[in-house]
Amino acid sequence: MTEFYISMEKLSNPTGKQKMVHKHFDCIVLGGGLIGLTASLALSKLGLNIAVVERNPLEKLIKSSGDQRTSAISASGKVMFDTLGIWDLLKSNAEPILDIRVSEKNTKGFVHYSHVDADNEPMGYIIENEIIKKTLIDFNKASPNVSLIFGQPVKGFSTGQATIELELSDSDLLNSNLLVAADGANSHIRTLTGIKTTKIDYKQTSIVFTVNHTLPHNGVAHERFLPGGPIAFLPMTGQRSSVVWTEKTNIANELTDLAADDFLRGASIRIDDCLGKLSLIGSWATYPLSLTYAENIIADRLVLVGDAAHRIHPIAGQGLNLGLRDIAHLVDKLAQAQHSGIDFGSYEVLRRFQSSRLVDNTSLIAATDGLNRLFSNDSRIIKSLRGVGLSGVNMATPLKHIFMRAAMGHLGQLPSLLEGSLPLPND
Ligand SMILES: Cc1cc2nc3c(=O)[nH]c(=O)nc-3n(C[C@H](O)[C@H](O)[C@H](O)COP(=O)(O)OP(=O)(O)OC[C@H]3O[C@@H](n4cnc5c(N)ncnc54)[C@H](O)[C@@H]3O)c2cc1C
Repeated sequence: MTEFYISMEKLSNPTGKQKMVHKHFDCIVLGGGLIGLTASLALSKLGLNIAVVERNPLEKLIKSSGDQRTSAISASGKVMFDTLGIWDLLKSNAEPILDIRVSEKNTKGFVHYSHVDADNEPMGYIIENEIIKKTLIDFNKASPNVSLIFGQPVKGFSTGQATIELELSDSDLLNSNLLVAADGANSHIRTLTGIKTTKIDYKQTSIVFTVNHTLPHNGVAHERFLPGGPIAFLPMTGQRSSVVWTEKTNIANELTDLAADDFLRGASIRIDDCLGKLSLIGSWATYPLSLTYAENIIADRLVLVGDAAHRIHPIAGQGLNLGLRDIAHLVDKLAQAQHSGIDFGSYEVLRRFQSSRLVDNTSLIAATDGLNRLFSNDSRIIKSLRGVGLSGVNMATPLKHIFMRAAMGHLGQLPSLLEGSLPLPND
């Protein structure tokens, strides 16, 4: 196992003062979140020498990242994790989603998606983020060509003709042919590049928590639209569900001041008590929501992936899946460049990556933003149209199938990682 911590590599000069370390990698991934850690693992399969730079210390993340969320991993995301070799470790903690019931209080309309309409394949899987992250860290640590440089925020960067150089907080310098920025929605690197970014504050907050319930979930995910935002109950292993309760921020603040019993009662009523009595596991966490997207996802020797490129509303549980697709497309483009003997960090290769992401990124940004505006709205006219729309989709089988395949990540031309094969290694 190769585990390289740059702080241990510092050299001492005769005066006892530490000198800067200057180290080269083929590719640096900035950010050790779910997207950064998946990117490093996937890029390592191309035989590249990768560094992951993360501001949090590794020990802290191994103990607890503090992330209370689960992720609905789409069917194609599961294929990608399987291809990268981590699904075997995740699957015992992954609950298959067999049915999705989307409804709106006080309207007749609803949509019922069943795995029976999708060749009996689960529509996706619910897994705790903490478990995904720990598994990814273990795999990265075990990879001979990945170096984890944790506990190091990045101060800045500079770009040369053939490389990009990153300066870490302790003044160490790293350089590489390509920087993959996965440093989240408030990406510091994105700000430094000056890439134009649009940010819309939804003035909504998601309260996320886990519950036990007295009735089984039977693999059903419930999503109920309410004027302040949706509430979703997502089936987890055992008789547990992960709840994402979105409300206008002022209401969410009042809800989190309630005693636990009153809070849970409010959540249960919103899905007509269909899971029986709820009891809280652990505590709840809040996530203020915004739409943030970069107008360009490339710059010289740099690409943005995951939330650094696009943070979308969690209304459809698609943000992580979208970031996984960024990685799968990037890996294909780099593999193609390797095979053609082209510099994989060159602008031409990055431009091809950006084009490959245009339709998927913009359509999901627009769809999630539009869904939230349509449903988080109390207008009577819009409400009656919504009811008609929902039952219309439920009855129109071909349309329902298109929505289902999109949510499962099966639409469009798929890159190799999503199809279940590794891009060919560089030979
Ligand atoms: C309530 C909620 C529910 C969601 N549910 C789902 C779901 O069911 N399915 C789904 O697909 N998606 C879901 N999402 C979206 C998903 O969680 C995100 O898209 C995903 O976690 C983004 O991961 P990331 O690695 O891009 O960013 P982050 O998780 O933000 O990671 C960024 C990393 O970069 C590090 N970093 C930042 N700046 C620096 C720096 N200067 N130097 C070094 N390191 C730095 C940070 O410490 C962090 O570790 C949900 C989101 C929310 C808010």
